[in-house]
Amino acid sequence: MKEPLLISACLLGLACRYDGRSVPLDAAALDKLKERWSLVPVCPEQLGGLPTPRPPAERKCGGVFTGSGTDVTAQYARGAGESVRLAAFFGCKTALLKAHSPSCGSGEIYDGTFSHTLVPGDGICASLLKANGIAVLSELDIERIRTYVEKNT
Ligand code: SF4
Repeated sequence: MKEPLLISACLLGLACRYDGRSVPLDAAALDKLKERWSLVPVCPEQLGGLPTPRPPAERKCGGVFTGSGTDVTAQYARGAGESVRLAAFFGCKTALLKAHSPSCGSGEIYDGTFSHTLVPGDGICASLLKANGIAVLSELDIERIRTYVEKNT
């Protein structure tokens, strides 16, 4: 049986992003993932009760806020908690989440100024998954691995 991989639904082509769009992985990358893993899609922001489309938001001062200053921390926290429950239900030990998102980003996220400035940090969901022992990767890791393999073979 294949190991389960929690994966951001927008990377699979589901139109769940704040702007009502998706950011699908290319077909070759998806095929590779499906060879190795059983994919478990998740969108923490939808699970937190937020609509689609929705105003963009960024992490700031320990919370999450829209550009107009609405505090959406509670919805983001709820979605993160539900995502951890989903991961536990399916036995996921690894997650592949969309880079830079205030929910799914890992290692680098936007700085809360809506100026496309990245700073070190994790999205709310990525952070909670890590705290629960789940390894979090992003689609950028796929590209880095692919580039490395192409340069070294
Ligand atoms: Fe994609 Fe995560 Fe944003 Fe949902 S919360 S749209 S899965 S990046």
